[in-house]
Amino acid sequence: MEGLGFSAAHFIIGHKKCEYLHGHNWRVGVTVEGKQDERGLVVDFLELKSLIKKICENYDHRLLLPEKNPSIQRLSSKNSVRVSIHGREFEFPTEDVVWIPVINTTVEELARLIADELVKKLSLYQNVDKITVLVEESPGESATEERRIKT
Ligand SMILES: [Zn+2]
Repeated sequence: MEGLGFSAAHFIIGHKKCEYLHGHNWRVGVTVEGKQDERGLVVDFLELKSLIKKICENYDHRLLLPEKNPSIQRLSSKNSVRVSIHGREFEFPTEDVVWIPVINTTVEELARLIADELVKKLSLYQNVDKITVLVEESPGESATEERRIKT
């Protein structure tokens, strides 16, 4: 499924070039496998799209910061997020920032995270056996993550 995604800023901590703040129009694609229902559908695309859209909305037009990265130092501040990364300090309005439970906001980590979130949301769909989530940050730079769904 194509055409879904979000625009967000990030940096890859520990990467020579990508540690500088920059952004992407991330694309998210999902493939669902399972048994077709009596209508011939595994999942209603409209329902699936709205689930993915909700996940993407959390990240859209935000700065994604990796919560689990040991090199990101949180500095105290009241109404903003202040961080230091390898001696470089940043300050952002709190509402612009989304802390993500990953070591770095890479396509690999985001694919894993979105797959986990989607598995939770798809638990009601008993006929879904497997999902594959693809996250792409620019053409040809993507990662996929597969999950079996146990019902
Ligand atoms: Zn990037």
